[in-house]
Amino acid sequence: MNTHNTYDTIVIGGGPAGSTVATLVAEQGHRVLLLEREAEPKFKIGESLIPATYWTFKRLGMLEKLRTSHFPQKYSVQFYSRSGKASTPFYFFQTNPHESAITWQVLRSEFDEMLLDNAKEKGVEIRKGLGVREVLFEGDTATGVVTQGIDGTRETLNATVIADSTGQRSLIGKQLNLNTIEPNLKMASLFTHYEGGYRDEGIDEGATLILHTEEKDSWFWSIPLPYNRTSIGVVGELDYLLQRRRDADGKLNAQKIFTEELAKCAPLQQRLKGAKQLLPIQTTKDFSYRASRIAGNNWVLVGDAFGFLDPVYSTGLFLALKSGEMAADVIIEAFDKNDFSETQLGSFGPEFVKGMEAFRKLVYAFYTKEFSFARFLSEYPEHQGGIVDILSGDVFRKDVTHIFPAMAEMCPLPPEVPLN
Ligand SMILES: Cc1cc2nc3c(=O)[nH]c(=O)nc-3n(C[C@H](O)[C@H](O)[C@H](O)COP(=O)(O)OP(=O)(O)OC[C@H]3O[C@@H](n4cnc5c(N)ncnc54)[C@H](O)[C@@H]3O)c2cc1C
Repeated sequence: MNTHNTYDTIVIGGGPAGSTVATLVAEQGHRVLLLEREAEPKFKIGESLIPATYWTFKRLGMLEKLRTSHFPQKYSVQFYSRSGKASTPFYFFQTNPHESAITWQVLRSEFDEMLLDNAKEKGVEIRKGLGVREVLFEGDTATGVVTQGIDGTRETLNATVIADSTGQRSLIGKQLNLNTIEPNLKMASLFTHYEGGYRDEGIDEGATLILHTEEKDSWFWSIPLPYNRTSIGVVGELDYLLQRRRDADGKLNAQKIFTEELAKCAPLQQRLKGAKQLLPIQTTKDFSYRASRIAGNNWVLVGDAFGFLDPVYSTGLFLALKSGEMAADVIIEAFDKNDFSETQLGSFGPEFVKGMEAFRKLVYAFYTKEFSFARFLSEYPEHQGGIVDILSGDVFRKDVTHIFPAMAEMCPLPPEVPLN
C-alpha cells in the first residue's frame, strides 16, 4: 500500500457538490485531488435545476457553457391537481426580472462531466475509477483516505481537509453514524426516460410539471430533456408505492406499478400518447435524511452527503452546488487562518440549514392532502411572490420565512432541526 502526503484538500465524489467545492478551492491555488469511483459518466437521476443555481455557476465560470449547451431552458414549474386541473405556471421571472430567472433541464451524464471538465481546467487533479473505502481519522481529526482501484489496489492518500461529497453514499455520515432519516418523508420513486410526447409551446416548452395522481397518493414529474427525451418519474410513500405492491412471491414488478400509477394521472397519460419508453423502470428509495454535523476537525460534508430533501421542488442540485460553494469558502478561509477545526469548517452550517428548512416546510405542505397552492394563494394572494422565491431557490438571498405563519394555518409545518 502506497502512502502520499501531498494534498491540501481531497474531495471524495465527482457529482455537482464535489466539482464545485474542488473547483473553487483549487482556484485559490490550493492543491486539490478529486476522487470519483466511476470510470465513465453514468445515467443519474436529478435533472431539473432551479434558478438560484445561476450564482454558483457564475462563480464556477459555467454560465457560458450552459448557455451554449443543448439543455432545454426552464422558465417555470407548473402543478396539476388530482382532478387534472393545471395551476398557472409559476414563472421565476415574476419576482426576478434578471437572466438568472431562466435555468436548465440537464442530462446528468453530460452535466456532471461538464462540471468535472471545468474543475480540471481550474486546476483540480481528477482521478476517475478510484473509490474511497474509508476516511482515516486520528482521534477525531480526519487525516486521509484509503482508496481502492478497479483492480483492487489500495492506497492511502493524506490531505489537510477531506470533503465528503459522496452523495447518498454518505461515506463519513455512515462511518460516524451521523444520519437521521426524516420519518414523515420515507418516499420511493420509479422513473424512466421517454422519447417523444407532447410539450407545451414557447417558454413553457422547458417547464417542469408536477402532477398529482387522482387520489393524491403519489405524484409524477415530467422534465423535458435534450434529444427529444422526457424524464418521467413517480414518487409516493415507500409503503404505498413498493412494499404493499409486492407480488405473492415477494417480488416487485416495477413496470407494472409504474403503469398502474400512470393510469391514475390522466393529463400525463395524454402527454405521453405515442411516446416511447426508452429505459426499463428504475426504482430508488428517496428518503429524506440529514447528518447531525456538517463538519468536524479537518472534514466537511457537502451536498447529499450532508442531507437529502424530497425531490418535489428540484432542490437537490441547487443545495449540492450551494453547499459546495459555502464549504469552499470556509476551507479557503481555514487555509488563510491555518484553522481546520470543526468550528471553522462548520461555520457555514447554520446558514445552510436555515435555507434547507424553508424548502423542508414547503415539502411538508405539498404532502398534506388537504393543502393546495391554489387554495393557499386564493386566501393569501400576497404570498405568491414568497412561493415563487422559494421555488426559485432564493432562500439564501431573500427572507422567505414570512409566508410560513399563514401556511401553518392550513397545514402542520415541521419544527426546525438544528445542527448539533
Ligand atoms: C428520485 C429523485 C429525483 C431527483 N430529482 C431532482 C431534480 O429534478 N432536481 C434536483 O436538483 N435534484 C433532484 N434530485 C436530487 C439530486 O439528484 C441530488 O441532490 C444531487 O445529485 C446531489 O449531488 P451530489 O454531488 O451531492 O451527489 P451525487 O450527484 O450523488 O454525486 C456523488 C458522486 O460521488 C461518487 N461516489 C460515491 N461514493 C464514492 C466513493 N466511496 N468514492 C468515490 N466516489 C464516490 C458517485 O459515483 C457520484 O458521482 C433527485 C433525487 C432523487 C432520488
